[in-house]
Amino acid sequence: MTKRIAIVVATLVTLVGLGVTAWFLPRLRRSVIHDITTWDAPPGDPAPLPAATGPGLAAVPKTRVILVDGLSEEHARTLPAWSDVCKRGARLRVDVGFPSVSLPVEVELWSGLTQQQTGIVFRSGRPLNPPLDRRGIPAQVPGSIAIAEDHGYLVRSLGFSVAEPAAGATPAKDADPAAWEQRWQARAREVVASDTRLAFIHILRVDTAGHKQGATSDAYRQAATDADGMIAELVALAPEARWFLLSDHGHRPEGGHGGEEPYIRQVEACVAGPGIAAGTTSGLVHMVDVSRAIADSTGATLDRTSRGRPFSAALAAPLADDQAIPPLPLHQGALAIFALVAGLAASTWGVRRWWLAPLWFPIACASLLAIRGEPTLSMRLVYEGSGRIAAVTWLPALLVLGGSVWFGLGRATLGRVLVAQLALPASALAALLTATGAWPAVLGEDVAPVVPRYTAWLSPLMLMVSHAAGAFALALLARRVLRRSDRSAPPAPPRSEPVAEPSTPDRRPKDPS
Ligand SMILES: [Zn+2]
Repeated sequence: MTKRIAIVVATLVTLVGLGVTAWFLPRLRRSVIHDITTWDAPPGDPAPLPAATGPGLAAVPKTRVILVDGLSEEHARTLPAWSDVCKRGARLRVDVGFPSVSLPVEVELWSGLTQQQTGIVFRSGRPLNPPLDRRGIPAQVPGSIAIAEDHGYLVRSLGFSVAEPAAGATPAKDADPAAWEQRWQARAREVVASDTRLAFIHILRVDTAGHKQGATSDAYRQAATDADGMIAELVALAPEARWFLLSDHGHRPEGGHGGEEPYIRQVEACVAGPGIAAGTTSGLVHMVDVSRAIADSTGATLDRTSRGRPFSAALAAPLADDQAIPPLPLHQGALAIFALVAGLAASTWGVRRWWLAPLWFPIACASLLAIRGEPTLSMRLVYEGSGRIAAVTWLPALLVLGGSVWFGLGRATLGRVLVAQLALPASALAALLTATGAWPAVLGEDVAPVVPRYTAWLSPLMLMVSHAAGAFALALLARRVLRRSDRSAPPAPPRSEPVAEPSTPDRRPKDPS
């Protein structure tokens, strides 16, 4: 009787624990996504670039920069006006680093400091307030002007003497967007043709089309063509200036950016005008090398910690393909591996029989990779609100988990089945929280746990473990309730015959725990 009570108590405690886990993890996920997209990361070291020396660009009276937000390398190459500028100067391949999000990349461009150095990694709808100070180029160039098509908070964050459109009710909002839409192109022409030393035009429509319809859509192509028309017009207004045509990231075929995919991170740039030999081409250079070129053009100086290299040096020593991806801080990596090994050890203790192995976990990860692809910060699934689609993705794995729990409980203790099935995924989640530096965020600190390759796994893995806890609880409940109803009506033994059968040996394997 006491053993029965102990089993009931253990079952109830486990059910409550699993229920709380299943309920809590999706909430934690929402809060971590908010931290990723809102706050800054602790400043750290940038990716090291190949060392090289050589002369930088000479200062010129007029520097003009056009940035087409979200224009992929593949599309840039097809644009006639863009390509004309490339042909009469230098065609560069530029790696913007990680994450490939507009505000962080533009702060990088105008400061020469990478996302890791500034800690500005996302800041969705959260401008720099106050804007970039004299650490940045614009604040060092009196009379510098920036004009943005839309979402003016991007250019208002950068420290230009004048940045339009002006802010509206909040720093993130534009004043009178409808009127600005009619006026902004005329204003851009005026500024480009003016005598100001530094003008920056930010074209947003390609990014907007990319988000709405994806990089393979007609809308995206059309927006790129429209942007190219504006480039033709603007470049003709200041033929004597040194021109920089830039992009801050590409887009996924279905729309989205932010991750470390090479085709999103690596974009095309053209630099033409005084001092740039026609027909120059480059291997991969870093966005901070472009910062250095703009700083030298305008007579500004980059922060001492900037890794931006002089123009000729950057051309002479291109980056390897993934060199712009910052390495994981060593202690975070080491602790993460420790957490994973602890989980493997616990799992091995729990398993003992092959059918108790947490087979569902590799199956769930494989389903995720096969159906949705490797998670990156460019993907909607990382941010989307509902766990339903995710649950469908790994439904077969959850069925395998339910089956393992059902059969496992007939042959081993609840504790052993619990550890066997959930220790490994739980420790994988702990390892991921460690590798991404997410523990302070979990404990409520306003900090963005953003590192390349790993951060994007946080969101699906939290859902996966939550769903696994739920599936485990259901299988446990079903097993206990159904076995109870079996016992509640035992077949009555026939009275007429005396019991003569030998007692059957217990077939169940002895459980040492
Ligand atoms: Zn965007």
